[in-house]
Amino acid sequence: MSEEAAGTLADVSVPDVRTALISWYEDDHRSFPWRETTDPYEILVSEVMSQQTQLGRVVDAWEAFLERWPTAADLAAADRGAVVGFWTDHSLGYNNRAKYLHEAAGQIVSEFDGDFPRDPDELQELMGVGPYTANAVASFAFNNGDAVVDTNVKRVLHRAFAEIHNADDPDYETVANALMPAGESRIWNNAIMELGGVACQKQPRCDEEGCPWREWCHAYQTGDFTAPDVPTQPSFEGSRRQFRGRIVRLLGEHDEMDLDTLGHRIRVDYTPDGEYGREWIRELLSDLAEDGLAEVDEAGDVPIARLQK
Ligand code: SF4
Repeated sequence: MSEEAAGTLADVSVPDVRTALISWYEDDHRSFPWRETTDPYEILVSEVMSQQTQLGRVVDAWEAFLERWPTAADLAAADRGAVVGFWTDHSLGYNNRAKYLHEAAGQIVSEFDGDFPRDPDELQELMGVGPYTANAVASFAFNNGDAVVDTNVKRVLHRAFAEIHNADDPDYETVANALMPAGESRIWNNAIMELGGVACQKQPRCDEEGCPWREWCHAYQTGDFTAPDVPTQPSFEGSRRQFRGRIVRLLGEHDEMDLDTLGHRIRVDYTPDGEYGREWIRELLSDLAEDGLAEVDEAGDVPIARLQK
């Protein structure tokens, strides 16, 4: 596997990539109340509110809004001035969004007999609901959406997959949909958005957040963490992370390597007893072992490193 080709979709086992991300998400994720519901009205309100407001601040507004107008029918019956007033009082951005939401609630009652449409195309018939919001509601309420491609997801895909990273005009949708397990848009979209929001931030936190894709990730293995919204290399505790990435890539290519051979391959100034020598590489390997990525076999004459199976 060449450096350019490291981390393409064709190099990975898609089922493994899916399972790793879903387990990582299920293990631990930020808790937002709209993740606990499958009510399309409640989800639509959260999506419209989140368009311009930080998620942490949306929680209070979302709860207060639903307390005041618990259903689409309640909202449809409300006075539009009161809805706009609520929007302004909670600093939720453009008032037009409040007007559209009110209008959409009216459509649910009058055009859909109180039943939300379940399909992204139909959801787009609602006032102010564009393709992104329609797909989010279809996914989170009905588990019936396509893969979400927002700024966070683009950053993840750009870093993780070489064909996106190296393309002049990357086709995010195709890769995103190829990754998503069929019929699992609810958990998948939540998981990949969480990856972008927590681990694959502009300033990446691959090791700190235990990113489940380090083993395959093009950026982690090459050290190039640029992305569409991160045009220059982010500054961070880069060197150790980059060396860990190189170790993972080399062990992926070679199955196993003795420590000195590995050391010479990742640093030109590697000297077994020097500052960047065995002790140094053992520390990196022990970080990777703690994260379940690599292991060192001490049984033979020389220590051998390999990826954990
Ligand atoms: S390893 Fe780092 S750069 Fe790659 S997907 Fe994970 S968080 Fe993003």
